[in-house]
Amino acid sequence: AAPLVVAVSTSISAKKGLLIRNRAGFEDARHLNAVVFDKTGTLTKGEFGVTNIIPSGDYTKDEVLQFAAAIEQNSEHPIATGIVSSAKDQGLEQKRVTDFESITGKGIQGQVGGQKINVVSPKYVNDNNLSFDEQQFNELSEEGKTVVFVLVEDQLAGMIALADIVRETAKEAVSALKEQGIHSIMLTGDNQKVANWVAKQLGIDEVYAEVLPDDKANQIKEIKDKGWKVAMTGDGVNDAPALATAHLGIAIGAGTDVAMETADVILVQSNPNDVVELMELSKKTYRKMV
Ligand code: ADP
Ligand code: MG
Repeated sequence: AAPLVVAVSTSISAKKGLLIRNRAGFEDARHLNAVVFDKTGTLTKGEFGVTNIIPSGDYTKDEVLQFAAAIEQNSEHPIATGIVSSAKDQGLEQKRVTDFESITGKGIQGQVGGQKINVVSPKYVNDNNLSFDEQQFNELSEEGKTVVFVLVEDQLAGMIALADIVRETAKEAVSALKEQGIHSIMLTGDNQKVANWVAKQLGIDEVYAEVLPDDKANQIKEIKDKGWKVAMTGDGVNDAPALATAHLGIAIGAGTDVAMETADVILVQSNPNDVVELMELSKKTYRKMV
């Protein structure tokens, strides 16, 4: 490859908001068969708003939200941001937390006023055999809402549903990929029903949900083993192992530092459709040379 042509392309791409950190990855972009996308923060904006609070037992909605917000102030997850700002909007007093811990891919925990509080995924609740209003949960999930569970001393205190915004540009990206015969795949830690809802909005070909961070990387490995050239697109800390495993790792500019430091290319404008732009630029660049 003529270094000058590549340098010119690198500068053109930078102007378009594509930051190329690794040229080998950029070169692979022209041969892709599959593009994998994380859901939250990648295909969606990752800006959650609380839509429903369903308390259990004697708890009130405000208590459920207040407990959750107390420990979520220690988390950087988009779910945390949504819960904390909702509690602020409600004028709820911020309680003090000790012994904060995150439970990778499943939620968080901490001590509030001498009680252990958890905010966790549906999978965590199922794994611990806690019962909840399944009909209510299913209805919310089928509307594409992410539901988390608030536990006090390992007992259910309530559910909080949050809605995110699907990126319009993600739809454009998926249909442009489809036109070029490239497979689009979603890889998310979120619940299966929510994942299916978002995938349907976008026309995504394949969905893997409730996937833990290390398994995101394993899934990429499996796709590679099929002999495919695969790109992974993500924004979160939990996407970093998968970004590193893919032929081409692409980070969303609005995402975490860890994702950006691991990726081959950064989409400065956080526009998933720039993946298509990147592929075209790669083709143009490397077509010119032998
Ligand atoms: P994603 O791929 O959607 O970014 P994560 O691996 O970050 O997924 O999280 C998977 C699931 O774990 C979330 O859908 C949520 O149920 C739960 N979870 C993770 N972090 C938090 C948090 N700070 N508060 C509540 N739940 C969380
Ligand atoms: Mg994400």
